[in-house]
Amino acid sequence: MAYDPNNIFARILRGEIPNRTVYEDDFVLAFHDINPQAPTHVLVIPKGAYTDLADFSARASAEEVTGFFRAVAKIADQLGIVAPGFRALCNTGTDAHQEVPHFHLHLFAGKPLGPMLAR
Ligand code: AMP
Repeated sequence: MAYDPNNIFARILRGEIPNRTVYEDDFVLAFHDINPQAPTHVLVIPKGAYTDLADFSARASAEEVTGFFRAVAKIADQLGIVAPGFRALCNTGTDAHQEVPHFHLHLFAGKPLGPMLAR
């Protein structure tokens, strides 16, 4: 799938749409999900143009991949969710119901999160 430069997260990165920023550095932007599914629901997105986890894993530079996951660690620590625990989720493609075609990692926390998948 070709990257759509007008997807909503690309527009957030360009400052065209507001967001509730949690963390930002050279590699990532993290912000609160607009429709939270848990008491803490934060999205972490890379600043580069990648459609999904498969695309990011295949094409991003080692510096981008490291920068992304180091940022996830910092954000989880900053949110205070490491000790109680959290869930990280990356919907990828149609079967996973990915809505926004810019790679993003969901961080869910703040309550017992139940089974891994809806049944
Ligand atoms: P996914 O189904 O994994 O693609 O998830 C996309 C997520 O983006 C959903 O949880 C939406 O609630 C969230 N979302 C969509 N638009 C915005 C926005 N403008 N600001 C914050 N979160 C958004």
